[in-house]
Amino acid sequence: MQRKRMVARQISGRGIRDAKVIAAMGKVQREAFVSPGMRERAYDDSPLPIAAGQTISQPYIVAYMIEALNLQGGEKVLEIGAGSGYAAAVLAEIAGTVYAIERIGELARTAVQSLKSQGYDNVHIMHSDGTRGWEEHAPFDVILVSAGAPVVPEDLKSQLAVGGRMVVPVGHTKGVQELLRIMNRGDGKFDQEELAAVRFVPLVGEQGWDEEDDSTKEG
Ligand code: SAH
Repeated sequence: MQRKRMVARQISGRGIRDAKVIAAMGKVQREAFVSPGMRERAYDDSPLPIAAGQTISQPYIVAYMIEALNLQGGEKVLEIGAGSGYAAAVLAEIAGTVYAIERIGELARTAVQSLKSQGYDNVHIMHSDGTRGWEEHAPFDVILVSAGAPVVPEDLKSQLAVGGRMVVPVGHTKGVQELLRIMNRGDGKFDQEELAAVRFVPLVGEQGWDEEDDSTKEG
């Protein structure tokens, strides 16, 4: 089975150790989240194009980010940049409830359908600018930002529970970022670690990059 081989080679084989993450990657049907013409490539070791010039992240990077969030099970999670809904599905296998925000309507609608068809009833998708978070459901135990930000959005920091973790790619240019892990220590104190150099599509919004010079904009 392609998925089993993907997990063996790209996930366990490359150093992912968290059994919950490995099990979730082995369970989520990635082919249900890529466009129909891309199904044969669903388990490739690479990101793949989805609608509106965006991408579904490489399986390894999804596993790497989720492992870095150190989920134990049952958490309330916020994802910014739901895209295809694939990472939200992996999160939903481990956590309690996943709230995911996507700024492109077409992608948000497709993600809702894909997640529903796969039976995920613990994922809630909102079509909005995710840089402002989802105040109504805050605080979150864990926040995953799946697009590259110029700085860590302040609203996301303020919606992170004490003891909560956020993983976010941050870079001064749009093409390349440093993956950061931020931990809320309480009393307004945050620990910050650099995990790896990564490449994500830009986070576009009020506390992200400007829409005007967004090369990935629709139309
Ligand atoms: N996690 C996704 C990867 C999507 S790529 C998956 O598994 O498929 C990043 C996504 O972030 C894109 O779909 C892009 O439209 C979205 N995005 C960019 N800026 C955003 C913002 N401010 N709020 C919400 N989504 C945003």
